[in-house]
Amino acid sequence: MSNEKTIFERIIDGEIPSYTVYEDETTYAFLDANPLAPGHTLVIPKEPYERVNDMPPELVGDVFSVAGEIATAVERAVDAPATTLAINNGEEAGQEVPHVHLHVVPQFEDGDSRPIHTLFDGADLADEEMEEIAESIRSNQ
Ligand code: 5GP
Repeated sequence: MSNEKTIFERIIDGEIPSYTVYEDETTYAFLDANPLAPGHTLVIPKEPYERVNDMPPELVGDVFSVAGEIATAVERAVDAPATTLAINNGEEAGQEVPHVHLHVVPQFEDGDSRPIHTLFDGADLADEEMEEIAESIRSNQ
């Protein structure tokens, strides 16, 4: 964490205006300034961890718990049957603001659902490669 405030800390501190929709001791939520859909909301930890990997597990729990409540409220508010919950976790994943934020984006019944699978080309892996990767993930925990 750097000493300079992130743009989202400045929002929490009221230095930058926002459409705030939720706040508690550890977590904050506000409308995204460039909404991908009406109701697009960002849920953030108040502490400016850069990536989910850096956050203490209890705080990850807090943010995801709030995200579940916010997803319900957003769906009701904009009459959406579903939401995509997503985190760009690191610069190479497209993260622009270095302060963890979970996007809650409503999806509508327009016959054109857009799952996160559309973001990737897919990887064709043999069974041995899958086992090797799984073993590596297990041994890196
Ligand atoms: P990222 O690409 O890092 O996952 O997403 C950053 C998000 O923050 C973008 O969707 C962008 O619109 C939003 N954002 C950036 N600056 C501001 C701001 O000053 N206010 C609000 N409400 N959203 C912001």
